Amino acid sequence: MEKTVGIIGASYSGLSAAISAAKEGAGVKVYEKKIDITQCACGEIYTSGWYGVETPPKNCRYYAAKNFIFHFSDENIAIPLPRDSLWVTERAAIQKKMYDTAKDYGVKFNLGASKLITEIVKDYDYVIDASGFPSQSGYEGYFEKIRPQAAALYYDVSGDFSEYFDKDLHFWWTTSDNHGYVWLIPKTEDKTNIGIGWENKTREVPKFKDIKTFFQKNLKISINYNEVGEKRGAGILPLDRVKHFTHDNVAIVGEAAGLMNYTVEAGAHFAIASGRESGIAAAKGSLSDYDNYVKSELLKEVDISKMLYKKIGRMSQEKFRKVCKGIAKGAGMEIFHSKVKFLGLLRHMF
Ligand SMILES: Cc1cc2nc3c(=O)[nH]c(=O)nc-3n(C[C@H](O)[C@H](O)[C@H](O)COP(=O)(O)OP(=O)(O)OC[C@H]3O[C@@H](n4cnc5c(N)ncnc54)[C@H](O)[C@@H]3O)c2cc1C
Repeated sequence: MEKTVGIIGASYSGLSAAISAAKEGAGVKVYEKKIDITQCACGEIYTSGWYGVETPPKNCRYYAAKNFIFHFSDENIAIPLPRDSLWVTERAAIQKKMYDTAKDYGVKFNLGASKLITEIVKDYDYVIDASGFPSQSGYEGYFEKIRPQAAALYYDVSGDFSEYFDKDLHFWWTTSDNHGYVWLIPKTEDKTNIGIGWENKTREVPKFKDIKTFFQKNLKISINYNEVGEKRGAGILPLDRVKHFTHDNVAIVGEAAGLMNYTVEAGAHFAIASGRESGIAAAKGSLSDYDNYVKSELLKEVDISKMLYKKIGRMSQEKFRKVCKGIAKGAGMEIFHSKVKFLGLLRHMF
């Protein structure tokens, strides 16, 4: 008999779950607290090939990115990225495409509806918590807690910053705890995405005024809000995962489950992959397939990234610099002693 699946959250993980469950013949309803599903905070860098969106959307730039560049006070060290190709695109475009696809498969949406797991768990054969972090579906406290978190924000800005892109698209800026980073990505000919991330000590979603304070304190840069880009977003991200990905007839996916690469704060591919597999498993009536998939395919990267994140944070800057140099040397990458244009760019922006 056709399974019924209720999903909380219509972002990457929820939409992915909805599409795959409906493709497998389930009756699916998605609850989303926002009215507009294209509103989301994300830096819009994706690993290609994970998304169920087989071709890059229009206007998508495609990179074969090779390096992270770590910036220290007097030198920049390039180390290789773990994957070799990235899409840089409008997240809203992918999300809209997924939403339309889900509707084509007969998925029903209840937009503007904030739901708790407890409110819908009895109405469906399976419920998928795809509500992001911190989970607002009642998951925290209902099952387990995930505490540590990072914060990130991004801007889309207009203008030609090509002189800053000659080396790479990713830039890692080392704060005293080695956990601050910045990315710089040309999205189109005249649009650039700039993102900033750092470990966050409180559970509040960062306000732009907090970001301003952060920059003033750490970089002695002040932000003029009137001059920042046309589009901006900010949010918090988990730095730990749950222990159990299923509880009776409930599956926890994406950021609600803490599935992320914590060292680079990337969660899009985990959200889409975990959503997809939970949807298939629910439609087939076997959530344990989802649990097995997470454990065999996703957890290795999640757990290694957590270990790295912790280790990096405990290192002194000098030790960290030595490690970076070792990796760079081993990979035949560049160490360049240049004037740091990057901070110049930040000053220009803020
Ligand atoms: C500023 C920023 C930049 C980022 N940049 C990148 C990047 O470049 N690349 C990358 O891979 N990852 C990035 N990430 C991480 C990535 O955005 C997340 O990992 C990914 O969005 C997680 O998807 P999700 O579907 O699990 O959760 P989310 O995208 O958080 O979606 C959860 C959805 O559930 C809805 N919801 C929540 N509670 C309820 C409720 N009670 N009832 C109904 N609906 C509810 C929310 O409104 C939301 O739509 C970034 C994150 C931030 C904050």
